[in-house]
Amino acid sequence: MTVATIADLPARVTAAKADWLAASHWIGFTPVGNGPDAPGQCQATIAGQAGNGYVLEYITRNFGTPNAAYINDPEYLAERAQHATVAGRLVAVHRLRASALSLKTIIGEADYARLQDMWDEDGKRRRWSVAFPIIESFEITTRPLARDVFSPESMQRVFAHPSATLRPLGDEERAAIAGLPLSRRPTSNAWIGIEADIEAAELSEIESRFQRHIDAELGETAIEGMTKEQWGKVRLRAAWLAQKFIRMRQKKGTLRCDDCGFDPATRINGTAIKPRSLLDVHHLHPLEEGQRVTTYADFTVLCPTCHRLAHALLRSKQANEPVAS
Ligand SMILES: [Zn+2]
Ligand SMILES: [Zn+2]
Repeated sequence: MTVATIADLPARVTAAKADWLAASHWIGFTPVGNGPDAPGQCQATIAGQAGNGYVLEYITRNFGTPNAAYINDPEYLAERAQHATVAGRLVAVHRLRASALSLKTIIGEADYARLQDMWDEDGKRRRWSVAFPIIESFEITTRPLARDVFSPESMQRVFAHPSATLRPLGDEERAAIAGLPLSRRPTSNAWIGIEADIEAAELSEIESRFQRHIDAELGETAIEGMTKEQWGKVRLRAAWLAQKFIRMRQKKGTLRCDDCGFDPATRINGTAIKPRSLLDVHHLHPLEEGQRVTTYADFTVLCPTCHRLAHALLRSKQANEPVAS
């Protein structure tokens, strides 16, 4: 599960986005045209371009000039200074939520109004109004200049012309970025990507022991960038997934310890004991929860002894490893 370079990502980098500033929570697009369908069309185009892959973020060489009232605005000046440090560089790869939200929904009415006052032409007020929350994010730690990574032809094809949408990448560009080093960073919007799941989890009956197990695996303290309430929802979703995972294994007839093979059915046949009551569900990457979204692949079924051993090994590994910065 460790992602050290772009080549390790579980999906392809499908497209690039040129931005003024490195994005942290969302990537915005300005719909072209004024029709009522413009936002929907914009969203469909971007979703199609991103596919199920990652989006490479490139910082433009130029920075915009805001509307007159903001030309000496401290926030603008700070952003311009920040831009100068990353201009022309490849800074990150992001996974976007499958569908967009209105930017107003993401950043709130007041911040949205300020952005439009600052950047949009009179009366338009739709700059970056179609926004895709970032649900997974990796920093490119070396932040190379794009022109040192891509051939002149690629630079021309991908970045030379302004575009309101993403710029699809080809195999040549993917090969050029494959070795760039990545460092995962927390995405506080991860929960936005799993809203539908959370809704389903809230409507489901989850056996209390799954919630107990998951709470023990993940801890009750909210991780950085998440409110206590969001963390509660993330844990609820994980418990819901864990329960579905166990039921799936039950259906497949593979409800036995993934480490030692212990199969409760061989010992309790003819009794009323439920096999699953003798096994635990274990979360393989508890420390990554909140930084990315838990999937079935994060779970394994263990007997209580193997489970205890797994946690002892994890603790021992943490004690011996230098803490990653
Ligand atoms: Zn075992
Ligand atoms: Zn565990």
